[in-house]
Amino acid sequence: AVDLLTFGESMVSLRSAGPLSAGGSLAMHVAGAESNVAVGVARLGHSVSWAGVVGADPHGEYILRQLRSEGVQVQHRLDTTRSTGVMFLEQRTADLTRAFYYRAGSAGSTLSRDDVDLALNAGARVLHLTGITAALSPEARAALAYAAERAAAEGVVVSLDVNYRSKLWTRDEARAVLAPLARHTDILIASDDELDLVASAAPGGSGSLGNDDAETALADELLGRGVSEVVVKRGAHGAGVHTAAGRFEAPAVTVTSIDTVGAGDAFTAGYLSALLDGEDVAGRLQRGTVMGAFAVSTAGDWEGLPSRDELVLLAATQSGAT
Ligand code: ATP
Repeated sequence: AVDLLTFGESMVSLRSAGPLSAGGSLAMHVAGAESNVAVGVARLGHSVSWAGVVGADPHGEYILRQLRSEGVQVQHRLDTTRSTGVMFLEQRTADLTRAFYYRAGSAGSTLSRDDVDLALNAGARVLHLTGITAALSPEARAALAYAAERAAAEGVVVSLDVNYRSKLWTRDEARAVLAPLARHTDILIASDDELDLVASAAPGGSGSLGNDDAETALADELLGRGVSEVVVKRGAHGAGVHTAAGRFEAPAVTVTSIDTVGAGDAFTAGYLSALLDGEDVAGRLQRGTVMGAFAVSTAGDWEGLPSRDELVLLAATQSGAT
């Protein structure tokens, strides 16, 4: 069994240095929330497996090569009738990036229950899922629900990052599919504006509650449904966790932010790595925020993520040491 199994769609990302409408050079990278997490966890020294579908094209081969070269075990299916998904990541301004997807009907979107079954047969300590998979196609949605249910029944720790993508579906569509998944989830990870996609506000409505109280009400509802850790990402404000034993917060590590894409996945990789190491909740948060800081202060979705030895580089910054 591997330490971490994850599956989803990875794409070729074509990154611009400026406005796409002005043309110019594009740099080819691998993109995908789940493969970002896979690389992050693998770099920290854990055994990691990624499952997914790619087209029989150079784009798919590139994805497989990149993941393998990062030490990620790849369990892929080749779909010879469809193309690997592509996205453009436009650096529109220094502070603003925009994603444009060419992934509808892609090979990756055909991920099925059979693919997931094969991957799960090998066993894993932790299964990491994201809400993105449910937005890809009806079969991917069914595969996601099936995986969560099977893994939970087999005692695999199930981690779910809500990862709402407004370009793929509406909040109401996401809520209808993702909220029921919570009952198979041990570790629910969300940005602070995504919690209401998996939980409902307490009776009486959240309108009269402050943001903090509203978050606690939503987290309590999830804890009541069997989630053991409700992890909330707060960008430059760090992250927090709600558990039955109480609430924990960690500030962000102070760094120069140059590229925020992938910060959430990096955080998740750190959090799950610390979980695999048997760290307590505070230790998980700490490693998550360090990984998030690496992601935002380096270029690329995952390229700047640290090896185990390098973790200390930014952990030291946090405690003020040189
Ligand atoms: P994305 O979808 O862009 O990856 P996200 O909402 O999933 O974002 P964030 O909350 O933005 O994730 O970032 C995850 C973690 O990364 C944060 O909890 C924080 O620890 C770290 N982080 C994010 N932005 C910054 C920043 N500007 N400086 C330092 N750390 C940051």
